[in-house]
Amino acid sequence: MEIKNNRLSGDNVKPFVEAHAYDKKSIIKPDAIIIHYTAGASGAATVNLFKASSATTSAHFVVSEDGSITQMVDLNRRAYHAGTSSYGGRSGYNSFSIGIEISNPGYLQKIGGKYYTWWEAKKDNKTATPESKVFTGKHRNAVTTMTYWYKYTDEQIAAVKELCRTICKTFEIKEILGHEEIAPGRKCDPGPAFPLDALRDEIFAQSSTLSISDMFKNAISKSAASSLVVGKASVKLNFRQGPSSTAPLKSSPMAAGTYIYIIGQDSTKEWYNILHEITGWIDKEFIEQDNTDSEYDGELKTDNAMLYSDCKKSRRLVSDLKAGTKFNIIEQQENMFRIKAVVEGWACAKYITKEA
Ligand SMILES: [Zn+2]
Repeated sequence: MEIKNNRLSGDNVKPFVEAHAYDKKSIIKPDAIIIHYTAGASGAATVNLFKASSATTSAHFVVSEDGSITQMVDLNRRAYHAGTSSYGGRSGYNSFSIGIEISNPGYLQKIGGKYYTWWEAKKDNKTATPESKVFTGKHRNAVTTMTYWYKYTDEQIAAVKELCRTICKTFEIKEILGHEEIAPGRKCDPGPAFPLDALRDEIFAQSSTLSISDMFKNAISKSAASSLVVGKASVKLNFRQGPSSTAPLKSSPMAAGTYIYIIGQDSTKEWYNILHEITGWIDKEFIEQDNTDSEYDGELKTDNAMLYSDCKKSRRLVSDLKAGTKFNIIEQQENMFRIKAVVEGWACAKYITKEA
């Protein structure tokens, strides 16, 4: 795939079809990609919907079930896909983002042991979704209680990945976000069936692969680091306090694609003892700040300190940080520091691929 003059071309790219509704006056310089699902029955149906003179919304791309891509708005034009949106202090994502709509029916309703798309659920004579197409998983947004989702095809996931990569080569893309992240109260697309975290890790890790050992340079001496084995989580990976699937979780699972250091193995060789870098918020009172010119900004004074997801302590990330853990301070609030620390724990070896 390649992009020239704001148009995509390549093997799996269909001819351009112009959307009806988009901003034909202003020129944009996109630095974000927003991923959506169409909540529709097919890619062709969505292309027709965006093309119709009754359309009020649009997106730059529609990705069909077979992985083929139809572009509908030039990449320097504002499409109408994000709506009221904000994230990380910015709002109005249509003005600086590229919208990718993946053809997918979205959440499924479970009725009498069977699963239905939102439109089938309304019918008297319902056609159920085959079980092989049902993805079960909780949504990242707490407001959404939906548990069943229509699976994306492998072709779609591969096509979206390649499309994002191609866009990143042409534009300076800072973020790839789900519609659910920029409009969390009202949107839940692309939902948990889409591997958004893995996609982000993969795309953004490519530019930072060289600094894997740098990531851990503050945890261990450089000479020790050079003899350690770097591994990568091949799936969303549980990080545990001990080498057993019943051992308590050490933190929220790490995303697929996360780099870790392997420092040992248990006797069954099924578990790796690993180092994993975690960022979170911690009470200032537990910290001894180091104002010398060392590589660390501080050290933990007490055992069992908690690391939280934010400075309001909404969610615990780690419950048992050990005294002596060294870290860097990234940001501070009145009583809390946001720190980056390397935490030791265990993970299942079969889900970790060793990096050469
Ligand atoms: Zn959307």
